[in-house]
Amino acid sequence: MSQAQALAAAQSLAAHLQRRGIRVSIELQPGVAGSGWYSSTTRVAEMSHHTVSRRSQGNTPVLALVKRGRPDVPGPLCNGYMGFDEVYRIITVGWANHPGAGGPLTVAGRTIPKNNARPYVWGTEYEGGLVVADFTPSYRSAMARANAAILEWLGRPVEAHIEHATWAPGRKVDRLGYTAAAGQAEIRAAQLATLPPHVKEPVMAGPVRLNLNGAIHFVDVATGTFVHIPNPEYNTALGEGLGGRLVEVNQRQFDVIGDFCARVRAQHAAFNSTDRSKVDQVYEWTKGMHPNVQTRLPLVHTAVEAIGAAVAKLDELDVEPVVAALVPAVVDALASRSGITVEQVRAAAEQAVRTVLRDGVDATA
Ligand SMILES: [Zn+2]
Repeated sequence: MSQAQALAAAQSLAAHLQRRGIRVSIELQPGVAGSGWYSSTTRVAEMSHHTVSRRSQGNTPVLALVKRGRPDVPGPLCNGYMGFDEVYRIITVGWANHPGAGGPLTVAGRTIPKNNARPYVWGTEYEGGLVVADFTPSYRSAMARANAAILEWLGRPVEAHIEHATWAPGRKVDRLGYTAAAGQAEIRAAQLATLPPHVKEPVMAGPVRLNLNGAIHFVDVATGTFVHIPNPEYNTALGEGLGGRLVEVNQRQFDVIGDFCARVRAQHAAFNSTDRSKVDQVYEWTKGMHPNVQTRLPLVHTAVEAIGAAVAKLDELDVEPVVAALVPAVVDALASRSGITVEQVRAAAEQAVRTVLRDGVDATA
């Protein structure tokens, strides 16, 4: 396929991104594995990665690497890339070496085949991943708006957003702190953010009543509550009891808020479980919605910060003592269960540990 087709596709994506307030730079190069400038394969999902970098390294510390690739993995290592400057670079409309082994995975009714996501998934590398605080509110918003734009360009629903960790759990952790549900929640919040401030602010602040041409609804986005209020007496009582505002909305605003609440209810239902980790996932997801919600969940916030701090420390560790501590354990575990020699296992273990610690860049297959 031609370079002209690739440019047209990139310009189409750029228009979607710009509509969501994202600055774009088109820096096209051919894809990997002979896919050329343009892949006509239908992409069914969008995947977010982090590059394993920190803000102190500058705006675009890993941009050159994701274009060029590594000695063992040719570039491009992603279809798109965003620096800390919040500029989205469109790098290839062909295939990129971003997902690696994983799957199979079904998202929003379409299955991505096992170990073969490149033709079917648009991959974005976002700078960061070492320090939670490096994902500032502004940067989180930019990532969510970019992902919303990519899904709109692909013609896919929000559920078609996944994280690298969704595709390769156990092997990958990116993006830092995000589950697929958390990423999707921020995309929905970005969509909700298109509402005008006089509607958005009260809706996100807590329970509120909506007035659409005299039909009143009680709404709480934190729980997904969306209930018609059948008579004026109930309306008055709720207003006096809860103090929430009565907001005039038009049909489009009413529909967006109603859809958002339906999705919130679906998320809560999906995680309706006694499994504590799943409950925490819901909290993690809802905390992205509004500061009022966050303040109710201080424990979650603390946990996320602690994980970020622990990961950040990896960078400051001296590699040699870590190798010395980890390798014997790996050697023992593997050598006792296989026919290969201890020396072979030791060499492989050392290589693996050094790669993780020194070249922690996630942008690999
Ligand atoms: Zn990744």
